[in-house]
Amino acid sequence: MTSDKKYIDVQGILVIFAESSLWPDPANIFVIPDDRGFSMIDVGGRGNSGYNHLMSGLDHLGLKLPDLHTVVLSHAHPDHMGAMTYILEEVHPKVLIHSLDVVSALNPANLHYTFDIPLAKEKYASSGEHQDFDLLKFFDDFGCSMSAVEEVEEIHEGDVISLGDFEFEVILTPGHAPGHISLFEKRTGILLAGDLVGNSPAWYTPNSGGLTGYLESLDKLESKDASLLIPSHGMIVDNPSQGIDRIRGKLLKREEILMEALKDGPKSFMELNAALFRHEIIHFFPGCGIIESHLIKLEQDGMVNRDGDVICLKS
Ligand SMILES: [Zn+2]
Ligand SMILES: [Zn+2]
Repeated sequence: MTSDKKYIDVQGILVIFAESSLWPDPANIFVIPDDRGFSMIDVGGRGNSGYNHLMSGLDHLGLKLPDLHTVVLSHAHPDHMGAMTYILEEVHPKVLIHSLDVVSALNPANLHYTFDIPLAKEKYASSGEHQDFDLLKFFDDFGCSMSAVEEVEEIHEGDVISLGDFEFEVILTPGHAPGHISLFEKRTGILLAGDLVGNSPAWYTPNSGGLTGYLESLDKLESKDASLLIPSHGMIVDNPSQGIDRIRGKLLKREEILMEALKDGPKSFMELNAALFRHEIIHFFPGCGIIESHLIKLEQDGMVNRDGDVICLKS
C-alpha cells in the first residue's frame, strides 16, 4: 500500500480520497486501470469541490477522462454521482447501478420519495414549516447538485463485476438508499462499504431501507469477513468487523436513547426527534426519517405502541 494521504494505491485499487468525510464534500473515488483504459467506482460530486476532486485526482494518476469505459455507482446520491455531468460532456462510459436506484439515477426527482420528504412534510404540516422544501434545490444550495444519467445497466445482488484484475461481488445493502450496494473483492479481502460504515452512521429513512435494513446490511457486510474496509467517506478501516460493530453500536445507542425518553412517559414524534437530535436544523431532514425508522423497528419488536401521535412503551 503506498500513500500520500489523498491518493492511496490499495493493492491496485487507486483511491482518490476527499478532503473531508463530511457532507457535502464528495465521496471517495475508486479507480481501476486496465488495458482498455480505466473504470471508476463512484465519481464524486458536481460542485466545484467535486470537479476538482475528480479532475485533479485523474491528473495525479496520469489518466484522461476519454479513457473511462465503466462507472459503477454505489447508489444514486449527489456526492457519489454528481460529477456525471462533467463526465458525460467528454465520454459515455457504461454506467452500472443497482436496479432499485435506477429510477433516481435517471430522474433525481425520485429522491424526494427515497429521502421520505413527504413524511417529513406531513410531520411538520401543523406548524406550516418546511412545506415548500425542495430536495434538489437543497442539494444545489449546498454546492452538491445531483446529476442525471440517460442510460444505465442494472446490477443485482450476487452479480460479479470484473474490473481490471478484480472481481467485485455485488452486495445489496439498503438502509441509506434502497439500491445502495457494497462491493466485496474475495481474492484481496477488500470491502467497499459505501456510506454504511464510516466515522458515524449514514442517515436512514423508511423508504431507503430504514433502520432494520441498515442493521441487516451491517450483518451481511460482517459475514464477508473482509480484511480491509474502504468507506466512501473517510479513511481506510483496518479492522472491518470492529468498524462495522462500531456503527451498529451507534445505531442501537439511538434506540436506547429513545427507549429512555419513553420511560419518562408517552412522547410525541417531535419530542422523540428532539430527544435524539439536539440541533433543530436536522429535525426536519434527516431527523424525521430516522425517528420513523426507529419507531417502525420498535413497533415490529413489540416494544412500543403508537396511537395517533402518542408513542408509549408497550406494557
Ligand atoms: Zn449517500
Ligand atoms: Zn455519501
